[in-house]
Amino acid sequence: MTSTSASGQGADYAATSSEAYQAALRVIESVEPRIADATRKELADQRSSLKLIASENYASPAVLLTMGTWFSDKYAEGTVGHRFYAACQNVDTVEALAAEHARELFGAPYAYAQPHSGIDANLVAYWAILATRVEAPGLAELGAKHVNDLSEADWETLRAKMGNQRLLGMSLDTGGHLTHGFRPNISGKMFHQRQYGTDPVTGFLDYDAVASAAREFKPLVLVAGYSAYPRRVNFAKMREIADEVGATLMVDMAHFAGLVAGKVFTGDEDPVPHAHVVTTTTHKSLRGPRGGLVLATEEFAPAVDKGCPMVLGGPLSHVMAAKAVALAEARQPEFRTYAQAVADNAQSLADGFVKRDGALVTGGTDNHLVLLDVTSFGLTGRQAESALLDSGIVTNRNAIPADPNGAWYTSGIRFGSPALTTRGFGADEFDRVAELVVEVLSNTQPAAGPNGPSKAKYTLADGTAERVRAAAAELLDANPLYPGLTL
Ligand code: PLP
Repeated sequence: MTSTSASGQGADYAATSSEAYQAALRVIESVEPRIADATRKELADQRSSLKLIASENYASPAVLLTMGTWFSDKYAEGTVGHRFYAACQNVDTVEALAAEHARELFGAPYAYAQPHSGIDANLVAYWAILATRVEAPGLAELGAKHVNDLSEADWETLRAKMGNQRLLGMSLDTGGHLTHGFRPNISGKMFHQRQYGTDPVTGFLDYDAVASAAREFKPLVLVAGYSAYPRRVNFAKMREIADEVGATLMVDMAHFAGLVAGKVFTGDEDPVPHAHVVTTTTHKSLRGPRGGLVLATEEFAPAVDKGCPMVLGGPLSHVMAAKAVALAEARQPEFRTYAQAVADNAQSLADGFVKRDGALVTGGTDNHLVLLDVTSFGLTGRQAESALLDSGIVTNRNAIPADPNGAWYTSGIRFGSPALTTRGFGADEFDRVAELVVEVLSNTQPAAGPNGPSKAKYTLADGTAERVRAAAAELLDANPLYPGLTL
């Protein structure tokens, strides 16, 4: 791995991690050998495939090892210095450090390290916005300090008011996340929801359209952020829109937190100075353990702080410890090199597709992800995803705007650069990856199932998978995952 890697600490570090994993696997093996076996196989599989899933990465051994400790056994409901359980002094150290690293890294006034995942972080954020903007003023109006002091009738009135609020978020097919007000998701039921999309011709976010939707709908919450939009967002503009209609701006930076941490997104593209509340996952481009994080202004901090136990189950202290380690890594200068390489590599991948006639949503990228419209190859996303997997290329199918194949079969493949950049891939390797993807897709044909046309069946021309796997192996061998780590 190069300086973009998570484990650039040298040979000693690799050897020590090898010993640690070997010892851990021996212990696991003595109890349930099949789990030890699956663990070894998982590493082997990750080492031998081109991982292009935009939401995945490879955390460092330090981050991974931190999760296997006694903190897993500790209950610690509440917050630092204010727990519902005794003997939380060490958890306090861990949580305080994770929050401190997050505040320093992102320049946020307040950070909450407990959410177990990105979806949990979003739920905490929604709850905190409702508590701050609706419940607290409602209580003050009724002359009460606490909901338990209200009469049944007043409580019902306040509860109805909290359940009657509006949220405006990006639609799923244009790149938003389920939790941004998609009707089947809990967020689409907690709130009256409306969705904004992208320009049907350019595929870019249309701020005028967002502003008119906000003026008409007057949401309490305006959500920005995405899972599959290949462009940057101007958060200063989103804040202007929110302010004009009295909305709270919440930004879900789950996908691009690494680019914010690594100072690739600065100024208007950095959500932290502009949003009231920012949520993220810690495991995608940020390269930490699986988990979530909420950053907030002082106004929303007290409500976010009550995330557990009001929204979340007991904190996963072992994961908070790993978050602290990952955030410490992200504060190192090498992380900036990594983040810039993530953006440069995505650009190279996009250019590689364009020059080989691949149709990209928005025509390219300026973040870490690329969305390829595979209908240009006569395929559904499902067929393309499977053919690529046969050839050792791991991706995920994804809807494109106004997708004719719906959210299950889809018409797109989403590619991300964070994981292979961690392995040390550079722009030339990403161009070669584009070439291999195009080779697979050009050699894939849709096929009929027993009952006629199928959106899932396909045939891959003989020899393609083997040829591409061999070419991928050359790239992978030149950029080994966790070099020096043997199991
Ligand atoms: N928010 C966004 C924008 C995401 O893309 C995702 C996951 O893909 C999430 C939230 C949910 O994260 P998690 O799977 O950790 O709950």
